[in-house]
Amino acid sequence: MDETIELGVLAESFAEMLGAEWPREKAIAHSFGTDAPFEEGLWQTMADLGWAALTVPEAHGGLGLGPDAALRLHMAFGSSVAPVPMLGTTLAAALLTSAPDHPQGGALLGGLAEGSVRAAFAATTSVPLAADGEAASGKVNDLLDAPCATHLFLRATRGGATGWLVVPANAAGIAIERFALVDTSRSMGNVTLDGVAIDDAAFVAADAAAEAAVTRAAMLAIAGDAQGGGEAVLAATIEYMLGREQFGVSIASFQALKHRVADHHTALAASRELLEKAAALPAADPEALLYAISAKQHATRLTAEVARDCIQLHGGVGFTAEYVPHIYLKRAKVNECLWGTRSATLDSVAELLECIGLETVSAEGTPRAFDILGKVGDEPAFRREIRDWLAATLDPAWRGKWQSARESDLRALIITWLEERRKVGLAAPHWPKEWGGPGLPFAYQIMVYEELCRADAPELDMFTISLFHTPATLFEHGSQAQKDKYLDGIVNGTDMWVQGFSEPGAGSDLASLRTSAVRQGDHYVVNGQKIWSSGGMNARYCLLLARTDPNGKRKHDGISYFIMDMQSPGVEVRPIRQITGEAEFCEIFMDDVKIPVENLIGAEGNGWMIAQSTLSTERGLLIFGAVERLARSFALDGRDAAGSWMQDAQFRREYAQYWAELQTIRLMIRKLLIELEANPDKASPTLPTFIKLTFGPFLQRYSEFLLRAEGMEAMKWEPAIPGTGHSSRLRFQDFLKSYGWTIAGGSNEIMRNIVAERILGMPRG
Ligand SMILES: Cc1cc2nc3c(=O)[nH]c(=O)nc-3n(C[C@H](O)[C@H](O)[C@H](O)COP(=O)(O)OP(=O)(O)OC[C@H]3O[C@@H](n4cnc5c(N)ncnc54)[C@H](O)[C@@H]3O)c2cc1C
Repeated sequence: MDETIELGVLAESFAEMLGAEWPREKAIAHSFGTDAPFEEGLWQTMADLGWAALTVPEAHGGLGLGPDAALRLHMAFGSSVAPVPMLGTTLAAALLTSAPDHPQGGALLGGLAEGSVRAAFAATTSVPLAADGEAASGKVNDLLDAPCATHLFLRATRGGATGWLVVPANAAGIAIERFALVDTSRSMGNVTLDGVAIDDAAFVAADAAAEAAVTRAAMLAIAGDAQGGGEAVLAATIEYMLGREQFGVSIASFQALKHRVADHHTALAASRELLEKAAALPAADPEALLYAISAKQHATRLTAEVARDCIQLHGGVGFTAEYVPHIYLKRAKVNECLWGTRSATLDSVAELLECIGLETVSAEGTPRAFDILGKVGDEPAFRREIRDWLAATLDPAWRGKWQSARESDLRALIITWLEERRKVGLAAPHWPKEWGGPGLPFAYQIMVYEELCRADAPELDMFTISLFHTPATLFEHGSQAQKDKYLDGIVNGTDMWVQGFSEPGAGSDLASLRTSAVRQGDHYVVNGQKIWSSGGMNARYCLLLARTDPNGKRKHDGISYFIMDMQSPGVEVRPIRQITGEAEFCEIFMDDVKIPVENLIGAEGNGWMIAQSTLSTERGLLIFGAVERLARSFALDGRDAAGSWMQDAQFRREYAQYWAELQTIRLMIRKLLIELEANPDKASPTLPTFIKLTFGPFLQRYSEFLLRAEGMEAMKWEPAIPGTGHSSRLRFQDFLKSYGWTIAGGSNEIMRNIVAERILGMPRG
């Protein structure tokens, strides 16, 4: 069995048991208050099932599983809001495993594994007790699980070292004052020590590695708890919405509500990727702690937001104690505070981010014969060869030159760059050998894009439709003659293509398009208008959707797909000026344009189905490249602001928060690419929607953040830099351009409809 399946099975078994032993009714009843600080019977059942032994080493009676198993366990607790003190067990196991020679370690680990030891574990953020000598006195406030613990792990210093003092909760001189917590599923207490007898064996010193291990375990456990809670409260809310009617229809059909639910669902799916990555990283990975702390701040904030909105989505019953949202909200708010306030957590993330350097490619290579494709099979050599080639070939001043060039000059620069790439076989890294491409395995295609982005090589903007949309269409649906005729011209840079789908009256509802194509002998006569056609002014050919049958049963039925020569008589192109000052898209007017029959792609009436292939290209490498480019400029933004807005606590924290969000998008895309490589037919149909729904709004918020952070400096107007996508680092340009992502290629509102209706099963409005 592979690891993923095991984790899935484990998670299912946790959910199944808790669903049976701690169903929603019990959680609600428990939320009204109880005298017992925890559910002892439930704890015992879990201990009998080996849950407390999960991360305890096998040598001490445990299962020896890693952080990814602990993550699933804590997700199950968050989901069920079960009142059991498992966090202390996870943390005590992490600490004692990191201090293998400690004299008490074996006994304590054995007790943790069998559930007879229940730990209340003080956070690294709590004020340490001075624990020198043979007796300890002092006070430890706000200790989670103190009222139900058998052992207290108190932050302390002894002999100049920092670590945890471990004392039995019933030791002479210890008093625990229990107080009510808003989250009744957990308990908390203030601990007073009055001359409690201690010795060296009671103190577990923690070196940097142990501190990191404990902190990571805590962050992952709290993040998991939050994530489980977020997913559960949203599921309960959807269930309620589906059963509730107003105005004679299910409230789940109201777009104002279901769009919010779609956003929450998407955000939680993205967050799960971050948590799983954080838990899967080896402890020695330099980014392990960064990911764990980010996961905690991200998941706790998100779940608190989702739970708050779930109260509103329930209406009046959401305000009652009888429904679950308040339970999750209270637990979420406690999670936000555990192991450091939100601000403190973000400060830690920012600090770790500042330690991570940005790898750049030096621009001082020597021209030589490069053999990038010959290095396939040897990943480091392949990357090195690309870097050397980029260093020798890429003009470091390209941004300035591309910015000042327009029209034919710009086109010449882009074609020169395409030509350079062609010389080493990288004009179209994703093209199969069969069609003149390099036939690179998918993993190597990804490497090419990573290296291009890392080196800040320009994008082939004008060729996006040519290099992606056209082959995605022709490879699958084009005739041999069409492939032979058109593909060469793309890679050689002689022909640019435009996508003529949208019309003035057919945008989101593309299938209602009205451009007509009427067959007359060996050609079709086309009349109509297209709009928002990117790059149409430079295009030689158009991927055109037109209606060949106005009487189709459904509006999708009568649409056909053509290749239209833009130099045909009757074609007129008018550029449209955009909010960025550029004119990258245009209107295309067609007046009795003749298209030869051999330019029909696929069968007449199959255009709608073929168009899905065209659009599917936007879900893979294209968006991967865009996000990797953004990741590079994100790192530069933080680095360059070291002496300015990164000195401002609020901006620094906001930046740290965006880092986590950016990783969720990168992780989703990588996951999708891996799935696509393994089996394109089995790749997740939901991930592309989540990615689209997440990336655009992220770009908008992040680019707006930079405007706020940089103030007037960001208000200076400069023309866009072609080839940089939305990562030109011209602040206002990038901010404005970000809106293209939420409108083009299926607006985000349409994406929300898809999530709500097709993924979550909510009714159409
Ligand atoms: C930068 C850019 C590049 C583009 N490039 C191309 C191109 O190369 N080729 C091409 O063919 N097209 C292109 N487009 C067009 C793009 O595909 C359309 O703009 C998009 O599909 C939206 O259509 P619309 O503009 O008609 O807006 P409308 O469909 O009129 O939408 C207006 C608003 O209503 C919302 N809305 C619409 N329907 C619903 C619904 N059912 N539920 C909820 N809300 C809804 C939308 O989300 C939007 O907020 C481009 C657009 C942009 C911005």
